[in-house]
Amino acid sequence: MPHGFERIVAHPERPDHSAERAGDTIVARLRLDGWHDVTVRVLHPFTWDAKFRGFRIDELVVSPARPRTLVSGAYSVADAAVLNHDDAHGTRTPFDFPEGEMHDGVLYRTVGHSPEPHERYHDAAGWCTVAAIDADGRAVALATALDRSDAVLLDLLADDHGLTVQTRLPWQAFRPAELPAADALPGLLVRHGHGDHATAEAWLRELLAATVPSRASDAPPPLIADTWGFGTDIDADRVSAFFDVAADLGVEVVTVDKGWEDHVGDWYAQAGYAGGVAGIAALAHDRGMRLGLWVGAGNAAPDSRVATEHPDWLATWNGRHQVVSHRNHSLCLGHEPARDHVLACLDRLASDGVDWLLHDFETISRCDSEHHTHDPGAGEAAGVAGWYFVLAALREAHPNLLIENCWNGGKPLDLQMIAHHDTTIGDDWCRSEENRLAALGLGVYLPSTWTSKYMGDEPNLPLRAQLAPYLVGGPWILMGDLPGWTDSQLSEMQRAIAIYREWRTAATDARAVHPVLSGTTAGVRGLAYTPRPDGAQLATFAVAEPAVGAEVRWHPALRSGDGVTAETWIVRDEWGGTEHRVTRAELEAGIPLDTASADGLALSVRRA
Ligand SMILES: [Zn+2]
Repeated sequence: MPHGFERIVAHPERPDHSAERAGDTIVARLRLDGWHDVTVRVLHPFTWDAKFRGFRIDELVVSPARPRTLVSGAYSVADAAVLNHDDAHGTRTPFDFPEGEMHDGVLYRTVGHSPEPHERYHDAAGWCTVAAIDADGRAVALATALDRSDAVLLDLLADDHGLTVQTRLPWQAFRPAELPAADALPGLLVRHGHGDHATAEAWLRELLAATVPSRASDAPPPLIADTWGFGTDIDADRVSAFFDVAADLGVEVVTVDKGWEDHVGDWYAQAGYAGGVAGIAALAHDRGMRLGLWVGAGNAAPDSRVATEHPDWLATWNGRHQVVSHRNHSLCLGHEPARDHVLACLDRLASDGVDWLLHDFETISRCDSEHHTHDPGAGEAAGVAGWYFVLAALREAHPNLLIENCWNGGKPLDLQMIAHHDTTIGDDWCRSEENRLAALGLGVYLPSTWTSKYMGDEPNLPLRAQLAPYLVGGPWILMGDLPGWTDSQLSEMQRAIAIYREWRTAATDARAVHPVLSGTTAGVRGLAYTPRPDGAQLATFAVAEPAVGAEVRWHPALRSGDGVTAETWIVRDEWGGTEHRVTRAELEAGIPLDTASADGLALSVRRA
């Protein structure tokens, strides 16, 4: 069993599906007798379906009167909204996609609202922790993790005698003619024992760190520059000018975002790029950088060659083609000819010199087509398997290709998505504070090297305050108007990049955490690395106007039990380079932050 976890797919219970009354398929069930006073911690990943919520972990009470159900998968907020709506109204609403000319496509919600804490159904990453008290009065904990990206409902059902945990495949997305073999169904990995949420989070960290592809931990996260600061308004000249500035800054991977392609779905460069994708790759490689390229691998523009020549490859749902991100259709990756087309396109891009594949939009589509190679009642499950097939084949053919997941802000999150990607974004706003929150949310479970951060221009923020969260973790992806940056901005960026490079790490036990503060902390937002084995650590802070003049101290984390007992430490201002010595007692009393102005700070400590 991986890291103390057990995979359970107990004898699935197959409902009697009929056109009028399809039922949910129960896949796994775990009974925990005597557990009471139950809470669950739920990670809500970023999604444009709930874009003002931010990346957040909620702790929710589970009681006999208040069952909870976590909804994972690609469309989790929209699905949870439907389920809460049905829960409140006693209805049975199919999952669907919105329609209409004004529909912008990154939203999947058709009814209801994004989940609120008092409701039963919550969108969630494919893992959670549960804490409770057992029959003997001891603190007990459970960690769960899903190993597939299908829409899965994880029920937490408390009664007077204990807790039942079960997974269901909802009838809206899963009503197969025949139930697949147990190993083809989403498995629930569970580990439980004495402890609390923190104990279970540590179990998950071990499991997830072991799931991250090993090549992502071979090298520290790169510095990346991406053209999305211009949106799709890019051409060969602009890309070339962007590459020049990126190369001067020491960028290691330059990604050309949406707008390079002639048609989504065909994946050839627009005519203005001499030499096509291979020509773009040469532009990057000649400047000493690797080339990253944006794709919406599972999508097809209505006027693309693939959609016009093979309309039968498009996913259909409730009798029509989906209109999803940027008004594209979805290809059904559960249909073998469509899947093989997508693989061939991506393989061609990698052969043309793409080193870093940034994929976005809908790669797992819902499909109920009667004419595809999959069971029409299990199209989403086939799409999940098809997407894994494409990623695994690509990986095998191009062992050095790195794959970044940027789906609607990095969803879905589960063991297989982690296993198939070298990094994921945590936030899609490209803004500093949202990235800090995402880094903290992912940092509870995942190594800091697995949390890409997009940085757009935010001229309303002091530059160092904006930069603060980007100095911790990575990959750091510059997305602004690099050729338009002033000399002073470029020089500040060079200093920031030097700090990032000094501290970035491939270590899978390094995480992004809250730095501990004391004093009047309102208006001070921080992000820190966990200490290295020798105790060295970096913390960054953004000081906002309300905190100017406040007395605030940072208390570095002092590792105990591993020999870090140094009596003298060095505190370094990473921006200015000044250093001073402090005693251990002074370190424990806290390092005063410079709050003289609203700005960004980067402080480190290490043993003298
Ligand atoms: Zn299909």
